[in-house]
Amino acid sequence: MLRSHATPVYLDNAATTPLCEEAARAMRPYMEAGDEAWFGNANSLHGVGRNAFVRLEDARLSVARSLKASRPDEVVFTSGATEADNAALVGMALAARDAARQRGRRVNGGHVVVSRIEHDAVLGSARMLKALGFEVSFADNDSQGRVSAGALERAMREDTLLVSIMAANNEVGTIEPVAELAQAAHERGALFHSDAVQLFGKEECFSCVLEHADAASFSAHKIGGPKGVGVLYLKTRTPFQPYLAGGGQERGLRSGTQNVAGIAGAAAAFEHYARFVEERADRMREVRDYLYEKLSECSKAVPSVAVPRGSRDFLPNIVSVCVRGWESETLIMQLDARGFCVSGGSACSSASLDPSHVLTALGIERNLAQGSVRISLGEDASIEQADAFLAAFFEVVGV
Ligand code: PLP
Repeated sequence: MLRSHATPVYLDNAATTPLCEEAARAMRPYMEAGDEAWFGNANSLHGVGRNAFVRLEDARLSVARSLKASRPDEVVFTSGATEADNAALVGMALAARDAARQRGRRVNGGHVVVSRIEHDAVLGSARMLKALGFEVSFADNDSQGRVSAGALERAMREDTLLVSIMAANNEVGTIEPVAELAQAAHERGALFHSDAVQLFGKEECFSCVLEHADAASFSAHKIGGPKGVGVLYLKTRTPFQPYLAGGGQERGLRSGTQNVAGIAGAAAAFEHYARFVEERADRMREVRDYLYEKLSECSKAVPSVAVPRGSRDFLPNIVSVCVRGWESETLIMQLDARGFCVSGGSACSSASLDPSHVLTALGIERNLAQGSVRISLGEDASIEQADAFLAAFFEVVGV
């Protein structure tokens, strides 16, 4: 039955989340016109600028605490995780190559390893590195998308300078063994970066990312913060060449006038998501498992990865399902018409509807992968929400 929904059921939280109350409250004063307490440029020397600087540094300290970073100056604010990923890969690879050459290590053009299931921000950065003379290899993953330390070691070489493997996948929810991967990279003299956008605030195991990685990327709008604000975590003394040329803000690491309003909102969102992680994960996991169970019972829909019940090796909020003979776009539109917001795993272009690179890397056959739907739960996840979604989904696919 088609319904007109004033408030749709939003199940696309891996794409973006609604602004949380704390973030909205933190940003509100910056939106008022004319008040000199709030509009300053954090790099100006006068009092209005110093006011903004104090708020910027308060936010940095708060984010560092939420991430459990050792020092606030390990937090570099960016325009989002796309920029953080680009800056990490290019900035670290170039700096590591220079440092290696200065030490007399034979690295030729330099070698970088990534996984096949990375976000396009990392895969695109790897392509940029190729244009800068680096060679890029892919570490193999298993049918759940997991990269083992052994697979990483096989992809590494004498001249590997940087490894980037995500902490958790945004399409199918696979959580990667970051501690072992970082150790394998370090043992062979390479730096390790991880895109941790989807893991922060979802599982306690996040804490191992900052413990082991040299750098990690985060995005505020995935955790109840505003869009257009990200964080590049850079461990002290990690080789890094600034990615953007300009005024040398962020202690020379990231040029561009800081978005203090957005950063204040981001800091509030990081604080919000750093709290009650286990309770949030338990609640989401229960709904995720319920959805998997019900979807698996339906012969037309086959989960694209089998999530073992209660599994902590997958994000608690992502369910990925493929429906044979359907295209993601059609499923999304039909569900939207019934008041449910979800995503597909397909990269749509005007000419073709290609299955996502992630599902392809998992070995899922094309005509199944083309009909993928990602359901990503939010903090309000409930069995009632899941039941309502399932009723609409089964109506659409005709079971
Ligand atoms: N990395 C991952 C894993 C993501 O899910 C996303 C968002 O889709 C990004 C990077 C890019 O983040 P942003 O929208 O902040 O640029």
